[in-house]
Amino acid sequence: MVTTELLAQERRARLAAQRLLEQKQEELFSANSKLAKHAHSLSDEIIEKRNEADELKGENIQVRSDLKVATVKAGIAERRLWDSIETIQDGFAVFDANDCLVSANAAYLEAFEDLEEVKSGVSYVRIIHFLVEEGIVDTEGLTRAEWSDAMLSRWHTNPIEPKTIKFWNGAYIKLVDRRARDGDTVSLALNITDQIRHEAELTKARAKAEAANRAKSAFLANMSHEIRTPMNGVVGMADLLTDTELDEEQNLYVETIKNSGEALLVIINDVLDYSKIEADKLTLKETVFDLEQCIHEVVMLLQPAVQDKPVNLLIDYDMFMPTEFVGDPGRIRQMLTNLIGNGVKFTSEGHVLVRVVGLNSGDGGKTRIHITIEDTGIGIPENMVDHIFGEFNQVEDERNRKFEGTGLGLAITKQLVSLMGGEIWVDSVEGEGSSFGFHISLAATEPDQALLGQSLETMRKVLVVKSQHQGLTILLKQLAVLGLHIECIDHLDDLSTVDLNGFDLAMVDPRATGESGVDPISILKNNVNDLPLVLLTDCHSDTVKGLPDTPVLKMPVGRRHLFQVLEKIDQALEPIDDASTEFQEPSRSEGEIITTVGESLELEPTQDQRKMRILAAEDNKTNQLVFRKMVKHLDIELQFANNGVEAVAAYLEFRPDMIFMDISMPEMDGKEATRTIRGIEAEEGGNSHVPIVALTAHAMEGDDTEILASGLDYYLTKPLRKAAITEKVLEAVPEFVLPVLESEAIAS
Ligand code: ADP
Repeated sequence: MVTTELLAQERRARLAAQRLLEQKQEELFSANSKLAKHAHSLSDEIIEKRNEADELKGENIQVRSDLKVATVKAGIAERRLWDSIETIQDGFAVFDANDCLVSANAAYLEAFEDLEEVKSGVSYVRIIHFLVEEGIVDTEGLTRAEWSDAMLSRWHTNPIEPKTIKFWNGAYIKLVDRRARDGDTVSLALNITDQIRHEAELTKARAKAEAANRAKSAFLANMSHEIRTPMNGVVGMADLLTDTELDEEQNLYVETIKNSGEALLVIINDVLDYSKIEADKLTLKETVFDLEQCIHEVVMLLQPAVQDKPVNLLIDYDMFMPTEFVGDPGRIRQMLTNLIGNGVKFTSEGHVLVRVVGLNSGDGGKTRIHITIEDTGIGIPENMVDHIFGEFNQVEDERNRKFEGTGLGLAITKQLVSLMGGEIWVDSVEGEGSSFGFHISLAATEPDQALLGQSLETMRKVLVVKSQHQGLTILLKQLAVLGLHIECIDHLDDLSTVDLNGFDLAMVDPRATGESGVDPISILKNNVNDLPLVLLTDCHSDTVKGLPDTPVLKMPVGRRHLFQVLEKIDQALEPIDDASTEFQEPSRSEGEIITTVGESLELEPTQDQRKMRILAAEDNKTNQLVFRKMVKHLDIELQFANNGVEAVAAYLEFRPDMIFMDISMPEMDGKEATRTIRGIEAEEGGNSHVPIVALTAHAMEGDDTEILASGLDYYLTKPLRKAAITEKVLEAVPEFVLPVLESEAIAS
């Protein structure tokens, strides 16, 4: 048993040992194969790393060689940069973030010549110190400390304002300093001595030129004054001569003298205007005026110039635009006269069209008004377009030479447009025509479209008896715009052939008598009967007598005024209204377009009345004569004074009802004489105030203000006109004196 058991035990132990061995062998095998795998991947990695290391080695060699090249290049670039900086005449320096000089060019360092310390590393504070202490800069009135402080506090601002400093030798250096991104500061020291010298020379030259210009303007203004005075004699006497009995030849001479005189005055006025604008003496007025009416008036005044050529003068006024604006109508009329006048002058056939368009400018509710004057005339060569706006400039060629002119019109117009804050321009094609345009912004006194859609209640059909008057074309258009049906006849004597039934109105130009020379009044009286009548006339024609209570429409007429006249008639067409009463008291407030014929201003004389007394103070004997002749038709007592002293004495003795006062007179001028007279009036107490009218050749803008400030009531410019003097006298006739005009004289 023991042996068997021992054998079994040994066998079991051997089997167990064998199994353990097998297990360990397996484990070893698996560990081996793992190890082999790892060894394999390690060797792959080693190969890879070796490859990478080889690559890096190659790259390193490349980088090293690139670095070498780059260093060489940077060296060259830096050398070039500094070579360039060295060649510039101006100073250049760079300071580091601690305000120490990094580098500076020779021009910068030159100012510090022998100062060894001024080199790379020196601080900005030391540089400023050397500048003042070594007397390199002229501190221009500041103490050294003040100057240094100012320079250092400037240096610490960001950005640093440029500063011009002056050197001891008179050189001017402009310092321009900029902060760089890394805290450096780049400094430029620009030598602007030449520029400063040039500017000083320019300032001096400009002052000299302005002085010369002022002298020229003053000379022109004086000359025009000097010329106006004798022209008063020439034009005034010629005017008076036309009132005397003259044969045809004499009439021609007188008319020529008058027309030449008037033409000369136009030139003088142009020259005067230009010198006024140049001398900044022109101020713009601000009054309410009717722009459309203003344009019509200018066009009508220019009508005679197109009478003998096939040129149509047309107006196209924006229907949506108001017509009443606030501005300077006198100056706007002047601009329009220049531009439309040129259109008429340089156009031999075709048309001159004035186009007016309004836009809402947004400038305080102002309307931006564009006015263009388009003609089909000779045109302007392209290279002359700017030239013609200069003073005294004209196109100098064959076609232009035959036209007269001063070459000032456009220059004045341009100045006036820019004074009104606008612009002027021209488009032109030589041989085809020109279009001059300008825009200005004016405040309207009424809303847009105020006049649009106006219509008349009852009136439908209008008969127009027209002469050849050109303004009628415009009138007919205006009537058509109002939706009226118009029929025209050319002659008054055809009136009897027309059936007037069905017409609501007859508008008659009494000059439409054709060849027959019939009496217009009797024809109208015999034919028109109950039909409302409007007489058409213009500022040149005599008033028609013999048809009382008939409205007279003075052409040219703007839409507004035409509508007002027609509206009154329209209202009277209502059966309930009495048509005749509408016109018994015509309105005189709206620009005087309606006048009633046959009106009499005659006053009833009484026994103890005396004649009106007029004192005229005038030193020039010829002008005294002219004045005497101009008031010859007035029944007045006239006395002359030769200067202001005499005028004051005459005022006390003669006690005039009115005084005409020349302004420039020897001993005491008109302004002083007036002040003295006003002083006497004040001393005497009471309400006496003798009307004093200034007579002057001084036409400079602003003169009137000064004259009126001296106590004068009105202002008349020489040459004197009979009509203007008469008007002023009539305005001043006191109640208690005898009538100064015969009733016939009033009506004529
Ligand atoms: P003036 O007409 O008195 O010569 P302006 O200053 O009004 O002076 O005009 C200057 C010049 O511009 C004219 O002489 C003319 O040569 C040219 N010009 C002006 N307007 C026109 C136009 N509508 N058509 C052709 N040329 C014109």
